[in-house]
Amino acid sequence: MQDQPLSYWAPQHYFFDQGLRFDCVQCGHCCTGDPGIVFVSAADLSRLAIHLQLSIDAVIQRYLSPWRDSYTIREAIDGRCLFYDQGCAIYRVRPTQCRTWPFWPNNLRSQSRWKQVAKRCPGIGQGRRYTREEILSLLSTP
Ligand code: SF4
Repeated sequence: MQDQPLSYWAPQHYFFDQGLRFDCVQCGHCCTGDPGIVFVSAADLSRLAIHLQLSIDAVIQRYLSPWRDSYTIREAIDGRCLFYDQGCAIYRVRPTQCRTWPFWPNNLRSQSRWKQVAKRCPGIGQGRRYTREEILSLLSTP
């Protein structure tokens, strides 16, 4: 194939080209119930330690379990995130995984998948509209 100028290629279209609305209504569905993994990166951990005014080691000991090359937040016996008590106690410094919800690759792979996810998350379809650019940026948040 001959070299083509970049303008030759049509821009990628997504079902969310016109944006998607989301505003967490703090129902807690995603922070309670079935066990899950909330990945805590090194950057998340350091934000948590500053917020909780604890050493990194103390945060790990009190709230985290090893997960892959980092940590996950421990859960109460009923599956609830240890930081959830009638709302998220660390909302301002919540891990990247929580901050980027629901704009995760697996949720955005198709419109039907998005609609399925919306059945479990009442914040989807509410509040402000995230633009396509914002969504793409959240999708690539490390
Ligand atoms: S399920 Fe959705 S609306 Fe409910 S707490 Fe989680 S993100 Fe917020």
